[in-house]
Amino acid sequence: MAKDRLSWQEYFMKLAKNVAMRGTCDRAYVGCVIVNEENRIVSTGYNGSIKGNPHCDEVGHTMRDGHCIATIHAEMNALLYCAKEGIKVNECICYVTHFPCLNCTKALIQAGIRKIYYNEAYRVDDYALELLDRNNIPYEKIEVDEL
Ligand SMILES: [Zn+2]
Ligand SMILES: [Zn+2]
Repeated sequence: MAKDRLSWQEYFMKLAKNVAMRGTCDRAYVGCVIVNEENRIVSTGYNGSIKGNPHCDEVGHTMRDGHCIATIHAEMNALLYCAKEGIKVNECICYVTHFPCLNCTKALIQAGIRKIYYNEAYRVDDYALELLDRNNIPYEKIEVDEL
C-alpha cells in the first residue's frame, strides 16, 4: 500500500531537521524554515557563526555563562536573511526543530510570525510561553518520523 502523503506540517518539519544538519555549533543542531501563507519557503536557517567568521566546528566554542556566544540561532539566521534581502516575513509561519529560546521568541513575534511549529520541547522558557500567549501566537508540537 502506498505511504500516506506527507502533510505540510510533516513536510516542513522534516525539512527543518535536514536544515539543522548544516549547523556548525555542535552544542545544538537546530533548523528553522519560514513559510508563507501559500506554503512556499521564504527562508531557512541553522545554528552557526556570522558569515565568513570562524565556525565552532573549526575553532571550538566561545563560551560565556554556559552558552556558546559565537553562534547565531537558526531562527535568527532565517529572519536575518530576510532582513538582508528585503523579504517579507509578516504573517509567515515558523517551523523549528526545537522550541525557540526567549530571544528568538521575541524576534519571531516582533517580525510578525503568526504561528510556530516545533518538534522538540527543549528548555521551554516560561516567559517565552507567556509572550506567545499574550500575543496570540499559537505554537504546536509536530511529530515526524526519523529521516
Ligand atoms: Zn558553538
Ligand atoms: Zn534562539
